[in-house]
Amino acid sequence: MSQNSSPCYGVFAIAIPLYSTFDYALDANSKSQPGVRYRLPFGKGQKPGVLISSSESTSLDPQKIKPVLEVLDQSPVLDAHMLELSRWVADYYLQPPGEVLFQCLPKYLRSQRQQKPARVKRWLANELDAESRETIERRSPRQHELLSAIEYSTAGLDAAQLKAINPNWHGVVLALESKQVIRSVWHKPDVDDQLLQPAPELNEQQSRVVEEMSRQMTGFSVQLLDGVTGSGKTEVYFQLIQQQLDRQQQVIYLVPEIGLTSQLVERVKARFGNRFTISHSGLTDLMRYQAWQQFREGDVDIMLGTRSSLFSQSQRLGLIIIDEEHDSSYKQEDGIRYHARDVAIKRAQMLDIPALLGSATPSLESLNNSEREHYRLHQLNQRPTAFPPPTVQLMDTRHLKLDTGCSPRLLQKIKQHLDANGQVLLYLNRRGFAPMVMCHECGWQSHCQHCDARLTLHQTVQRLLCHHCGFAQPVPPACPECGHAGIKHYGIGTEQLEQRLQQLFTETPVIRIDRDVVSGRHQLATKLEALNRGEPCLLIGTQMIAKGHDYPAITMSVILDADQALFSASYRASEGLVQTIFQVSGRSGRGQRAGEAYVQTRFPEHPLMKSLMQQSYREIAASILSERRLLGFPPYARVIMFRADALSLQQAMNKLEEIRSILDARTSAYGLRCIGPIPALMTRRIGRYRAQLCLMSADLRKLRSVLRASMPEIENVTSTHSVKWMIDVDALDL
Ligand code: ADP
Ligand code: ZN
Ligand code: ZN
Repeated sequence: MSQNSSPCYGVFAIAIPLYSTFDYALDANSKSQPGVRYRLPFGKGQKPGVLISSSESTSLDPQKIKPVLEVLDQSPVLDAHMLELSRWVADYYLQPPGEVLFQCLPKYLRSQRQQKPARVKRWLANELDAESRETIERRSPRQHELLSAIEYSTAGLDAAQLKAINPNWHGVVLALESKQVIRSVWHKPDVDDQLLQPAPELNEQQSRVVEEMSRQMTGFSVQLLDGVTGSGKTEVYFQLIQQQLDRQQQVIYLVPEIGLTSQLVERVKARFGNRFTISHSGLTDLMRYQAWQQFREGDVDIMLGTRSSLFSQSQRLGLIIIDEEHDSSYKQEDGIRYHARDVAIKRAQMLDIPALLGSATPSLESLNNSEREHYRLHQLNQRPTAFPPPTVQLMDTRHLKLDTGCSPRLLQKIKQHLDANGQVLLYLNRRGFAPMVMCHECGWQSHCQHCDARLTLHQTVQRLLCHHCGFAQPVPPACPECGHAGIKHYGIGTEQLEQRLQQLFTETPVIRIDRDVVSGRHQLATKLEALNRGEPCLLIGTQMIAKGHDYPAITMSVILDADQALFSASYRASEGLVQTIFQVSGRSGRGQRAGEAYVQTRFPEHPLMKSLMQQSYREIAASILSERRLLGFPPYARVIMFRADALSLQQAMNKLEEIRSILDARTSAYGLRCIGPIPALMTRRIGRYRAQLCLMSADLRKLRSVLRASMPEIENVTSTHSVKWMIDVDALDL
């Protein structure tokens, strides 16, 4: 006889910014599995919580423990491994455990919603007599429209397809169902019913790398694939994915947010049919949940997604790929702060499987790790196509009058390439028409009311916009300070460049790609279609065009505004600039014609600019690394940043002073330096003042000892809406 009357207590994670878990009494008669969601009484209301563990005793007063309200899941939403991973993330990144755990769930499940099967419902048409059809056609054109579409499809239509026809499809479908004109079936995505593209024959370097890596595909290891742009890294990933699929294993394939272009999706589809699913921020919560569910149930074997797809569950994960591993979009900078590359490596270690990082411009962290033999380095320094990546050339713009940011020589070069039927890519990482509006009578400038930032002129919408908080105001007809009528704009954004180049090259399509023109992924795809056709055109864009794309007709890449980064306050600016320049220049010469790459600069004598012409990325990275070593900066030190934001700077500073005084008690004993608190680089943002306190050391163990000793006290430093504080472990800035 089981003792089903003995009390039982559960420890729960709840998504609130507190460093604690919560105890509730469980119903002793029902089985309680870790990873299951419950509805819990909390404060005056209720919240969903995930059961972490249960036991027959509690350290709290049993009388005071409230019982759970309801169990929400039949089966766990998080498995034991994910619970462990989330514990590690909370511990390493010093984040509230409940928030971390909920972050591991798809957003759809972070509420009290029920789990849904991974299957998709489809509607099929029933046999219909002519008379009924005629009635529907006459009385209800909307029903008729959907019915015709459903009848026309052989496999039936799913919700997404119906919605594309009529956004209010649901009511219409219900009406058709009630007339029994259509019926629904559950459709499980089936595998391998398409014509797949065979893999190309690998070149010698690719084969060697695949062979070397294949030998490392069982057990934990980190493989770093350092391959110049266009060297066929994606092909290497595909081969290794195939090997893991052949072993009945699943693969998570991470790409940066903007790297998930239709081009990559098409390539994966051509090779792996419908054995993959995708997940990115452009999808609805439900769609992302369905992708997560399909992967978890094993209906598909590849999860192709952005940062948070790393937390996809699998019973048979065999490989995690992190493409463009240097990309800063892998670092989450709001909510829970973590770095997806580093968590991926930890996850691989826990599961004893390989992690594969790839990039043409590996991060200094990863290069350092491969030097120290933590990562195994593989190199591809040739393109399988006809020409090597172009060498960067500088265009000196000193003493020149520029036309919308372009030197006469640049315009001439563009013309040459277009005349030779090439496509030209121009990189300008500044959207809008002009970054600054000013009155030159009184010196008035357009500043954001909520941020320490200038408003950017956007001419198409006739607004001044803040790129940090979204604040918008109409363009004033005259200076708001002195009334002078001639306010002027300065500097050049993509909108202006597009307009001017279209005037200069009237016959050539000019395609602009930035966040203003490309809101949905679908639009990006349509825009890029023109490039696919391979006809001469000009492509202008921000970082959205810098990576991932493979357009063989591009014969020239230009970086227009590199100079800013030379004088940035961030110690990472030079690394970022060099990566961007190599990535952008690497878009060119991928096809049957050689490419050229130019950087316009007013500082051709700057050592970094000079090195661009003479050295490889690896050589430049090595010298930036030795500078960092000298300065004791990451990757030779670890940075832990405490950040606070408040309605006044003083409040934010005070909060960090409070934290500093707790740390001070230990930092001196360990010989660590605490820098700050100081106001953040951009102090006011979205109406809040921001400050930071930095703890940096070459000795991670010391750093963690100080924190371990201080955290219990720091956790008690209250965070309210008026003064919020948070921790950023391995912060990217200083
Ligand atoms: P990367 O990811 O390194 O930038 P890709 O994998 O996109 O490079 O490859 C660049 C181009 O070369 C693509 O068009 C790809 O189809 C082609 N390619 C890659 N490997 C081969 C190969 N072995 N033979 C022929 N073409 C290849
Ligand atoms: Zn004025
Ligand atoms: Zn603003």
